[in-house]
Amino acid sequence: MTGKDSLTPEQRRANMRAVRRKDTAPEMRLRRALWREGLRYRANIHVANTTPDVVFTRARVAVFVDGCFWHGCPEHYKLPRTRPDYWKGRLQRNVDRDARDNLKLQAAGYTVLRYWACDIRRDLDGVVREISHYVRGQ
Ligand SMILES: [Zn+2]
Repeated sequence: MTGKDSLTPEQRRANMRAVRRKDTAPEMRLRRALWREGLRYRANIHVANTTPDVVFTRARVAVFVDGCFWHGCPEHYKLPRTRPDYWKGRLQRNVDRDARDNLKLQAAGYTVLRYWACDIRRDLDGVVREISHYVRGQ
């Protein structure tokens, strides 16, 4: 039996969730668009004890694409009806970590740009223009 096949269905689902959260579709769309613009970034690297989705090391710009559900987009977050207290705590921990990550990066001299997944869907060009402005300083 291979290692992959020895996972229980529950473990496999957990793995797939983890993968999806790391490289989500909106994040991949943003990365491809940045690349097309000639903006060269690093992805999934550690900076100041955080892991931004996209990092411009020379310009010191860190970009996060925040999922509307996991990070509490004011427009799209809806508290699940089952186990609301659990989900409230879960969201609060993510929001708190986001705030701490911002502070750590700022203390390291980084500009932090955060976008909702829905920003990427709605106005990818605008997001790319804004990032380009911070990275290229124009
Ligand atoms: Zn949203």
